[in-house]
Amino acid sequence: MSSSSKSAYFQPRTLKEASDLLIAHPRSAKLVAGGTDLVPALSRDHARRVKVISLKKLEELKGIRQHGKNEVFIGAMTTHSELAESPLINKYFPALSKASSLVGSPSIRNLGTIGGNIANASPSADTAPPLLAYGAKAIIRGQAGEKQVRIEHFFTGPSAHILAKGEILRGFVLTYQEESFSDYEKLGIRKAMEIAIASACVSIGLRDGIYCQHIRIALGAVAPTPIRAVKAEKIVEGKTITPDLIRKAARVAMQETRPISDIRASADYRKKMVASLVERLVLHASSTRAESSLKG
Ligand SMILES: Cc1cc2nc3c(=O)[nH]c(=O)nc-3n(C[C@H](O)[C@H](O)[C@H](O)COP(=O)(O)OP(=O)(O)OC[C@H]3O[C@@H](n4cnc5c(N)ncnc54)[C@H](O)[C@@H]3O)c2cc1C
Repeated sequence: MSSSSKSAYFQPRTLKEASDLLIAHPRSAKLVAGGTDLVPALSRDHARRVKVISLKKLEELKGIRQHGKNEVFIGAMTTHSELAESPLINKYFPALSKASSLVGSPSIRNLGTIGGNIANASPSADTAPPLLAYGAKAIIRGQAGEKQVRIEHFFTGPSAHILAKGEILRGFVLTYQEESFSDYEKLGIRKAMEIAIASACVSIGLRDGIYCQHIRIALGAVAPTPIRAVKAEKIVEGKTITPDLIRKAARVAMQETRPISDIRASADYRKKMVASLVERLVLHASSTRAESSLKG
């Protein structure tokens, strides 16, 4: 089945074998995880002579587990359903659980993986803003060994990323902070089976419910890649949170976006919605924290 002029399906057992196959078929090889992005794309392109390399048998890409102090490893083959249901992810990275629970439909969530969602590099990928907000690192395995790359350096444009020939996403490492609050919001026309028109994730550490020790604000579907609103973060970080400060940060987040107009929404609408999502998430975080510090 390995003739270069024919289609073929491979099921490697090790990452080395999968990487070697990518090198051996540089133009025709395609990795497949759940296939929910790849298979429709291949049929749209009437693809011929594709060498499909399945990642299903690669144990190194599976599992969610504690990974050293305050760190959790998520294998690239973890499905959205697994992320939505994992007690560890729900406890430490609730915005990632929520984002995964909002992907497509139950059947898409049962097949689609976090590795595929990130490697597909859509600006609207639901798991990207939480990974950015949690400061995740992507673990990449290639011919030269393994490296870790901060997730903000992974995306280079719509459907484009830094993976070089022979490189495969093995998983992600996320660091948690006990006292932080995080949430994800996705704006779509429908409640299910909807790609985000705009999305936002905030992870924030508050002292006494009002003083912002650290914050990350990440946005989806409003720029060529998922982004962090770094200037907006600087407005809030190291300050006592007030409604005025939150509104200012939300306006600055809006200015950091570069959305497009398309069939689902205009660029102008997307910008306005970013301000509203960020304001709502930070207000919610500060009111939730203020309540719990009053109780505790
Ligand atoms: C009906 C429908 C609804 C959808 N709804 C949503 C939604 O609401 N939100 C959303 O974000 N997405 C949505 N998607 C897109 C898709 O389901 C997700 O992006 C999913 O997470 C892709 O994962 P997968 O495992 O199926 O990827 P695949 O289709 O298997 O792969 C996607 C791409 O990533 C590459 N790849 C996969 N794994 C790796 C790896 N470990 N290393 C390197 N490259 C890799 C593949 O080569 C391919 O280019 C939807 C898709 C459909 C068909």
